Amino acid sequence: MFDYLIVGAGYAGSVLAERMAADANKKVLLIDKRPHIGGNAYDHYNDDGILVHKYGPHIFHTNSREVFEYLSRFTAWRPYEHRVLASVDGQLLPIPINLDTVNRLYGLKLDSFQLENFFDSVAEKKENIRTSEDVIVNRVGRDLYEKFFRNYTRKQWGLDPSELEPQVTARVPVRTNRDDRYFTDTYQAMPRHGYTRMFEKMLDHPNIRIMLNTDYREIERMIPFREMIYTGPIDEFFDFRFGKLPYRSLEFKHETLDPAVHQSAPVVNYPNEHSYTRITEFKYLTGQVHSKTSIVYEFPCAEGDPYYPVPRPENNEIYKKYQALAAAAANVHFAGRLATYKYYNQDQVVAQALTLYRKIIGEK
Ligand SMILES: Cc1cc2nc3c(=O)[nH]c(=O)nc-3n(C[C@H](O)[C@H](O)[C@H](O)COP(=O)(O)OP(=O)(O)OC[C@H]3O[C@@H](n4cnc5c(N)ncnc54)[C@H](O)[C@@H]3O)c2cc1C
Repeated sequence: MFDYLIVGAGYAGSVLAERMAADANKKVLLIDKRPHIGGNAYDHYNDDGILVHKYGPHIFHTNSREVFEYLSRFTAWRPYEHRVLASVDGQLLPIPINLDTVNRLYGLKLDSFQLENFFDSVAEKKENIRTSEDVIVNRVGRDLYEKFFRNYTRKQWGLDPSELEPQVTARVPVRTNRDDRYFTDTYQAMPRHGYTRMFEKMLDHPNIRIMLNTDYREIERMIPFREMIYTGPIDEFFDFRFGKLPYRSLEFKHETLDPAVHQSAPVVNYPNEHSYTRITEFKYLTGQVHSKTSIVYEFPCAEGDPYYPVPRPENNEIYKKYQALAAAAANVHFAGRLATYKYYNQDQVVAQALTLYRKIIGEK
């Protein structure tokens, strides 16, 4: 008899499996329908021996000391500050928008103080920020919005920013200094030997059994367990009773190229041309030295694996109905990005899992 059947071996499932096994001495069966652990953070060496992220670039960053220290039990780190360029009007310009972005785009020589005045002069001030369009035009005006945000968002989400809740574009700051880091979190680093190695260490415990290539529905009636922790899509768990929760998906096109370096930044965004949104070159992220280089193109699409919950008020209404069912479900706990229908970064999912663990164990 297992104490816990944990569905999904991504961050949510793996952190809970580790805590249950190592801290609470519970017997855990961790299952995933994919052929590997790590969920969307899974990385592997490709045929050319280059470490790549199968489901697109994963950059670790957090302000949470607790999360960083927790993960540090399972990995050493490689300091890494992420940088992104956007291909706009024939130039590669820093994004988030900063002083250099504006000066180079418009051929100006503003200082930080003048840039603030520039933003004030072009901003379309909104009383109520209701959409992702409002967030940006309110801060930097329409031209920068059109060049950097509008089409990128339309490609990424299949919706205009005016149809999306503010948080989508609010995630990307606007700066008046020259800081070109994508993130400003206290802890910014990549697992020195990759994410999968970190997950392997996390799950290396005699109380944890792992079953891959298995949908939980195939085994839930055959294997005895006391409680379930579910980290898959919440609508699927309840047989889509209130309808399907919409997700945005991605197709990844991985390529290995002969030159050692392909582009001048880890990620180049293509807001306006091309059907892909961005190209990532993995060696920047991993620090690997290799005579060739591997890149991935991301093509957003409606069908496919569920990656991004679509933040629209009507979808949140549907989610709330599922959430009420989840709250009433006996002996099942829901965690992670898909089960809570939220766009969470890795660190947020780890924090959520640690909190849920304390709650479950505290209740016993
Ligand atoms: C393209 C992309 C880029 C990202 N970049 C970053 C980044 O740079 N930095 C960052 O911090 N975060 C990033 N994220 C977010 C990060 O991937 C998530 O925060 C994290 O992976 C969520 O972990 P999770 O355990 O909730 O979900 P997942 O990793 O999705 O794990 C859920 C697992 O459940 C399994 N599962 C589902 N249904 C079943 C079933 N019926 N039976 C068995 N198994 C099932 C799935 O196969 C999956 O492996 C990115 C996400 C994407 C999609």
